[in-house]
Amino acid sequence: MFWQTYNNKRVFMFPQWITRLPFCKNLSGMWYGGIVSIRRDLYDKYKQDGDVEIEGLIIHEQEHLERASKMGHLKYTWKYQTNSKFRYEEELACHAPQFKLYREKQYPFDLDNRAKILSGSLYRNPVPYEQAYKDLLDLWNKYD
Ligand SMILES: [Zn+2]
Repeated sequence: MFWQTYNNKRVFMFPQWITRLPFCKNLSGMWYGGIVSIRRDLYDKYKQDGDVEIEGLIIHEQEHLERASKMGHLKYTWKYQTNSKFRYEEELACHAPQFKLYREKQYPFDLDNRAKILSGSLYRNPVPYEQAYKDLLDLWNKYD
C-alpha cells in the first residue's frame, strides 16, 4: 500500500532508501502538490507504537499543505524552493501545530537535533544552528 488515511487525508509513503540520496539524509516527511508523504519505516513505527513523534510529523506536513493550498501549490512550492527566508519561516510556522501536540502529550521532542537538521543541508542552511535552536525553543515555550 502506497498510502494510508490519517485525519481523513491520504498520507503517502516513500521508502527509506531515499535518505541515501544527496541532501536527503534526514528526510522524514514531505509534501508536494496536494500530497503529504512520510517515510515508510517511520510511519510503520508510528502505527506500531502510537509514536507521538510521527503523529506530529504528519501534522507538520499537513500544515504545509494547508498553507500551500491558501497561497496556491505552485507559488508556494516555487517560493519555498527559491527563497530561504520564506522556507525557514514556513518551517517554523509548520512546527507550531506539531509542538502544540507534543506539549499536550508531554512528548520530549529533541529540539537540539531538530535545530541541527533545520539549519543544515536538507534545508540548504537557511540560518546558523544557534538561531534555529533559539527560534525552535521560543516556539516550544509558547505552548508551555
Ligand atoms: Zn516542514
